[in-house]
Amino acid sequence: MSPFLDLAKSQPNDRLFDLPPLAMDGAGLAEDFKRYFANTFGRDRDCRSAYYPYLALAIVLRDRMMERWKRTRQAQDQANCKRTYYLSLEFLMGRALGNAMLNLGLSDTIEKSLLNLGLVLEEIGDNEPDAGLGNGGLGRLAACFLDSCATLQLPVKGYGLRYEYGMFRQLIENGYQIEEPDHWMREGNPWELERPEYTQRIQFGGRTEFYRGADGRSQVRWVDTQDVLAVPFDTPIPGYLNETVNTLRLWKAAATDEFDLREFNAGSYPESVAQKNDAEHITMVLYPNDANECGKELRLRQQYFLASASIKDVIREWTRLNGPDFSSFADKNCFQLNDTHPAISVAELMRQLLDEHGLEWDRAWSITTRTMAYTNHTLLPEALERWPVRLFGHLLPRLLEVIYEINARFLSEVATKWPGDLDRQRRMSLIEEGGEPQVRMAFLAIVGSFSVNGVAELHSRLLRGGLFRDFYELWPTKFNNKTNGVTPRRWLVQCNPGLRDLLNDEIGEGWIRQLEQLERLAPRAENATFRQRWRAMRQGNKQRLADLVKEVCGIDFPIEALFDVQVKRIHEYKRQLLNVLHVMHLYLRIKDGDTVDWTPRCVLIGGKAAPGYTMAKSIIKLINNVANVVNADPATAGRLRLAFIPSYRVSLMEVIAPGTDLSEQISTAGKEASGTGNMKFMMNGAVTIGTLDGANIEIRDQVGDENFFLFGLTAEEVEGLRPHYDPGAIIAGDRRLREVMHLLESGHFNQFEPGIFDAIIHSIRSPHDPWMTAADFGSYVEAHEQAGHAYRDQERWLRMSILNCAHSGRFSSDRTISEYNEDIWKMMPVAPLPLE
Ligand SMILES: *Cc1c(COP(=O)(O)O)cnc(C)c1O
Repeated sequence: MSPFLDLAKSQPNDRLFDLPPLAMDGAGLAEDFKRYFANTFGRDRDCRSAYYPYLALAIVLRDRMMERWKRTRQAQDQANCKRTYYLSLEFLMGRALGNAMLNLGLSDTIEKSLLNLGLVLEEIGDNEPDAGLGNGGLGRLAACFLDSCATLQLPVKGYGLRYEYGMFRQLIENGYQIEEPDHWMREGNPWELERPEYTQRIQFGGRTEFYRGADGRSQVRWVDTQDVLAVPFDTPIPGYLNETVNTLRLWKAAATDEFDLREFNAGSYPESVAQKNDAEHITMVLYPNDANECGKELRLRQQYFLASASIKDVIREWTRLNGPDFSSFADKNCFQLNDTHPAISVAELMRQLLDEHGLEWDRAWSITTRTMAYTNHTLLPEALERWPVRLFGHLLPRLLEVIYEINARFLSEVATKWPGDLDRQRRMSLIEEGGEPQVRMAFLAIVGSFSVNGVAELHSRLLRGGLFRDFYELWPTKFNNKTNGVTPRRWLVQCNPGLRDLLNDEIGEGWIRQLEQLERLAPRAENATFRQRWRAMRQGNKQRLADLVKEVCGIDFPIEALFDVQVKRIHEYKRQLLNVLHVMHLYLRIKDGDTVDWTPRCVLIGGKAAPGYTMAKSIIKLINNVANVVNADPATAGRLRLAFIPSYRVSLMEVIAPGTDLSEQISTAGKEASGTGNMKFMMNGAVTIGTLDGANIEIRDQVGDENFFLFGLTAEEVEGLRPHYDPGAIIAGDRRLREVMHLLESGHFNQFEPGIFDAIIHSIRSPHDPWMTAADFGSYVEAHEQAGHAYRDQERWLRMSILNCAHSGRFSSDRTISEYNEDIWKMMPVAPLPLE
């Protein structure tokens, strides 16, 4: 299986591994850097590319992580501790360089050493492409969690897929989104380490047959399969200044040798190469759908490939240390499923225990249901994954048999609890009947897990009372909440050096590990001198954002203006449309001369639309068209600007969040499970304008009503209004909305593009508009008026900004991960053996 020969004559001894620790001082780091640059990569003084200094620096850092990585592994092995595996189809890691320097404690040393060599760190760091192996919040959450697990020294390993092409790059042409492939590893990836020795073989297709095992028991085997190899690539995940380095293991699909041989010998070389391509396609591209299932066979292949390879990897490691005895497996291992995407892991762990390790059903089921834990990320019905039984049976016949057996046993449990309640059995079945039968992946995850959690208080409550109500009635104690968080290392220390230095000056450095310490800032909101320091810091950050907007959009954002920002995936439930309607309203006010006590505003919107999501793409076009009209009109000078920033991603957010005054979190109540963008903004001192949705509710609870601009219907009001929703009447009854709709319908923003916004107009006017944009328009405009008014009192705004940061401690992913560990994983932290 391994492409390499094993050692036979050689007898490596301890001297092979007897290495002094690598230098952590400026001179030693510079020495290594120069050697990699000149000798390893062969560059000289003619090299004008900033890429090679980046590469050399990455290897310098990787070396330092490598030695700590081994010690972390050794310590975890020796402790024989419980471990958790975070299974996720997405890890939105962004850039690694700045994070590695920060967590190793080398940022300042390296910056100085490079300057000494005539190199500017920031310029060099900009050569790193984002690792965009995720769509949005869900993938970024996985990345923040890995940082917190390493920082808390918890033995958690991330498992995902090594997509050749990550999230597409977004260009804007004539206002429209254009997608370009993101070949992010074209120049190589210095952070990963290939581990061919841990390659796994994954089965697809074929059929199942019974046979009699050695002990006379009837067993099943899965035969005539088309196999694909899973090759692991490991990325080090350093903890913050604690010597721990955890692992993110990403699988790459590769063809088996037989592919070539079988067909080649039959004389059909092109067919054999085609099959090889088929195998390798599994990890070619990330599906660019956010909160939307896609139902494509390749996607199911990806999900099973991740589940099977990861579970095999864990069981390989288990049997290496414990032999074939699984009696304490569930006490020592936990799989956390990031949404339903890896839910097939439930059936796959069963299959491996039954068919590959000979366990009986009840033992295997007991192990599985004490090992799996499931996190739900959305209430949107269109995101609930379902697979046609036919497709399932064709691609994964053995898994379908296992799921049928799980379902039969589960439904008999339901029948025991509610005798004769056939409707409930039908509702709860893992198989949805009627028309084309489907496998319900979320239900499989619930039935197979000992823990089911939502990601904010409201979301968890809505799950218990709505989508998963039947399951909650059956197993109330399975259900729990874990409100999301973000890592303060990337989202404050790294991205906002001005604020970091100010905080360190004022309250010491303890807040970096214990973000609740930011509370100590709160009394300083009343200190005028402190407020001026805060203001200077924020003006610097706004200038940095203004420079970015100027560079990529060509639009001037004067930093005295209110920076009003909405960046996130483009989706109707997130209501970027409501935001544009407000901009149109401001534009009309300017044109009407209604500008006394005007607050100058710069509105920034960014985000990618799924390539097949027509309405979301029309909204992008509308934003750009409105921007063109507004920015070109001399009447708006000094009063209003609108910009759409293309290719919103992690590295852009690192500039955007620190420079934002007003954070737009305006989803229809009950639709945004949590949000995490809202937390990054708050931490960096932005004030939120938002609905009572997701974690906004908890943000407002922390910061206080007076430091949050609330508007809109509650989740309960939204559902109550739905049957009588009458946007026509709302528009007729609100002059502001009437005039905005008139302007939009008159074609003012699409003079030479007739009809292109008809679908948008129709959606606002439809009584069936699920997002109820018209319902919240009035209160949204009024909340904006309050925000504008508050901003004109700069001292007041500064107080609000300080208090938002001061009360953001709860939204550290360290808090979230501590809760996962206390309630679900129950692991002990493990410190690595110290370096000499
Ligand atoms: C934080 C983040 C998100 C999630 O934003 P929401 O506002 O919670 O939807 C999406 N994309 C990127 C690049 C992020 O950094």
